[in-house]
Amino acid sequence: MATRERTIENLIERLRRLPGIGPKTAERLAFHLLRVDAAEALELARAIEAARAAVKTCRRCCNLDAQDPCAICADPARDASMLLVVEDPREVARFEDVGYRGRYHVLQGRLSQLEGIRPDDLTTDLLLRRVAEEHPAEVCLATNPDLEGEGTARVLAERLGPLGVKVTRLARGLPAGASIAQVSASILADAIEGRRPLPS
Ligand SMILES: [Zn+2]
Repeated sequence: MATRERTIENLIERLRRLPGIGPKTAERLAFHLLRVDAAEALELARAIEAARAAVKTCRRCCNLDAQDPCAICADPARDASMLLVVEDPREVARFEDVGYRGRYHVLQGRLSQLEGIRPDDLTTDLLLRRVAEEHPAEVCLATNPDLEGEGTARVLAERLGPLGVKVTRLARGLPAGASIAQVSASILADAIEGRRPLPS
């Protein structure tokens, strides 16, 4: 294969590895990037490079921040008795906005049979280790109130059971199928306030 074709194949393959991108979309994006102004295409490469250099994954809670450990983990004023488990760093920002002042653990996804995502693919082991070492009084499973989020909470509750920690879930006031990233601040604040215990 000519070098030029191999280079294009490589670009398509890289794009295909992104979440939610199938082979057809990857091909469309690749040819789009080759067609647009070269400077504009390279801006994307530079934006990725700059974001990767500026943002780190916190080795304690897996949140994204400019520093590791992240500003939240490094803050001794945060309430260490409460650990809020979220799917995604975007949700950390939402809970910060509604005044939550405990600590977080970011799963970096949720369990999905359809997508073949198993507990080992998430930061589950790190969560269990943290609970065993940090002894929070409560772990609140704040995964999304949809099918996969509920399934993830159920599996985590089972695994946390033997550690003897109190495990809770956000209040049922969150509409089923809603996304934490999108519900209003008042609903989210109520959901934290009205946490309910989960049987382990
Ligand atoms: Zn952190």
